Amino acid sequence: MIVIDPGHSGRSIRSRNAATGLTDFDYPNEPEMTEVFGISLCVAADLRKIGYRVVLTKKKATSTVSLTRRAQIADTVHADLAISVHDDHTQTDSFQAVYSQRGVKHHGRYHAMWRGDGADRTVFNHPGVARKSAHYARLIAAARRRDQHRPVAITEENFTGRSGLEPGNLALVQLLTRVPWVYSESGARTGGSTTRRITTHDETLYAKGILDGIVAAVPVKGARPESTVALRRCIARHRNG
Ligand SMILES: [Zn+2]
Repeated sequence: MIVIDPGHSGRSIRSRNAATGLTDFDYPNEPEMTEVFGISLCVAADLRKIGYRVVLTKKKATSTVSLTRRAQIADTVHADLAISVHDDHTQTDSFQAVYSQRGVKHHGRYHAMWRGDGADRTVFNHPGVARKSAHYARLIAAARRRDQHRPVAITEENFTGRSGLEPGNLALVQLLTRVPWVYSESGARTGGSTTRRITTHDETLYAKGILDGIVAAVPVKGARPESTVALRRCIARHRNG
């Protein structure tokens, strides 16, 4: 069971997560939302074809779903792996990253993965899940490297000092869940523009990397993912609405 979480909500949202007190905040972001929704649909379609069960956290590119709700969706279906799919039009294609719930070693050791200030400070406290997430992140990064022909860093977020966001080092959706969750980012700036869509080619290679990464992380006997050519047809279809 795979949960694919296409980034961002159609409307701005700001609520309080009851369990932690953390602010559940998100905002619309185009063309990222349209791009990653198409990518997610095509990856989901191929996974289903080869025997996976797949749930998306959004029904449409413009759906508004809180981060609390997204985490609940993955928990409810007991996802073997959830993956958030994002791209970033403020970064060039030299920025390719995956983030796990375990973070990265600092001076030889892992440290707390957390969000929030004072009494709301919440630490991710499922070490077994964090280890799986780190393992899957490595496999997804390796698949993306092969398919996108670019280095993909396994790294850690830093939300501290970012306006509207709780301080800390873990995406809220990864903190609020109890299943292994990998967060994927891809630099998408095209020339000097932060609004121009990435090419069909780049969308296809990003989709292929995610698809191959999921299959490597959660193998299903005999499952062979779709070729890049077939994925490209799906991506192109969704780009044209
Ligand atoms: Zn994003």
